[in-house]
Amino acid sequence: MSTLTPFQRVTAAIELKEPDYVPVVPMITYTAAQLTGIQFSEALYSAEKMAKALIAGYKSAGYDGIYVGWESSFNLMAEAMGCKLQIQPNSIAFVKDQVVKEPSDLDKIEVADPEKDGRLPIHLKAIELVREKIGKDVPIFKYVPGPLTLASVLRGQDQLLMELIRNPDAVHDILKPASESSKRYGVATVEHGADIAVVADPIASSSVISPTMFDQFAFSPIKNVLESISDVGGIPSLHICGNTIPILERMVDTGTRIIELDYQVDLAFAKDMIGENVCIQGNIDPVGVLLNEKPSDVEKKAKECIEKSAKGGGFILSSGCEIPLNAPFENVKAMVSAAKKYGQYPISV
Ligand SMILES: [Zn+2]
Repeated sequence: MSTLTPFQRVTAAIELKEPDYVPVVPMITYTAAQLTGIQFSEALYSAEKMAKALIAGYKSAGYDGIYVGWESSFNLMAEAMGCKLQIQPNSIAFVKDQVVKEPSDLDKIEVADPEKDGRLPIHLKAIELVREKIGKDVPIFKYVPGPLTLASVLRGQDQLLMELIRNPDAVHDILKPASESSKRYGVATVEHGADIAVVADPIASSSVISPTMFDQFAFSPIKNVLESISDVGGIPSLHICGNTIPILERMVDTGTRIIELDYQVDLAFAKDMIGENVCIQGNIDPVGVLLNEKPSDVEKKAKECIEKSAKGGGFILSSGCEIPLNAPFENVKAMVSAAKKYGQYPISV
């Protein structure tokens, strides 16, 4: 029998304690569209449709928290800062026109106002609608774009990666409005009701840049955004995709309360290295397993994650990254039932 609310279960994990069983919060946003008949592109412009699908996902699988969102937080923010998006009926939007084509275009960037610019207000409204419907017992997670990745979307990824080496000053210049926009949005998400604001910075991954570059360009901006989230009473979380083993300890140094790990990171290794300092969340392969395998494979992977990382508490079972649009919901349900089946505390393995 579960005795805790999802909010209490997740909070216990964040406080590095053992709840009744391992909380399970898959990274699901648009995947829930399949349950409602709502087209992916419809909810891009409608807080009501977005909230409806997200709540349908939660009710169908019964996980312990809801990620409010519908698309890449980077595209969403880049649009609010002046980039043009290519929106397609049933797949993820992409930026078709960078704002900063030359370093001299920097003046064209405006720090985003989350209450006004682009579709940011739709996302803030969706947080409120989900909260109204589900009450306070289920925590709301919200992605906030990490500054370095946001800078790469504003400038163009190849260009930015080159400038990390050739023109660091230009990168620092573009990081300023990117960081300020992320910070304002992070604060706004908490003010509109998000409990956990997750700064996602995939370019900061050791799969993309060196740990030295992480320190030089990603660490301080991330830390500043996380601190602003904390200052307004939000719980800061940090998501970096791919291999993050070389920067795990630096990720803890940012002051985050949760670290979301992708499937490339061995959870037993991470638990040993940082498990006493921070709550770990992860890390079933979203494409290799959740999109392409069967519920029985998902169950096996979930059991493995629990065995590697749940002992002693401080663990949230999840996907390694956002679950793809067409992943079968039966796989999501299999992940949730595995948390209840294998994750009862105390864990004996
Ligand atoms: Zn990711």
